[in-house]
Amino acid sequence: MNDASDSRTLDELPDRVFVALGRRGMEGIPLKECTYECDSVELTLLSVSTNSPDISKKGKEEITEDWIVQCEKCGRSFTFRCKSRYFDGERMDTMVNILDDEGKDLGWLGSY
Ligand SMILES: [Zn+2]
Repeated sequence: MNDASDSRTLDELPDRVFVALGRRGMEGIPLKECTYECDSVELTLLSVSTNSPDISKKGKEEITEDWIVQCEKCGRSFTFRCKSRYFDGERMDTMVNILDDEGKDLGWLGSY
């Protein structure tokens, strides 16, 4: 993983991610909330790392970015693992998983 923290901010992530609800369409879930009990929305970005600093302009590509954040309220950190699919340099979609402060994958949260 390469460190890509410079000049990255949480503003690059959307406020909501979406899960499909079958016939009921899509439901939006707030992304930038503490994953632990406290439900705080005050998160600080600690670092961003990616498996690929450059997106190639040709063909299919999958890029993983780990956004490590810390909750201001409870002080615990966790990770948004964003797996983006690109085609010819354009993002198709991104799946977001949450990892806790021990690196345990808490599962898929939603996509954007
Ligand atoms: Zn918290």
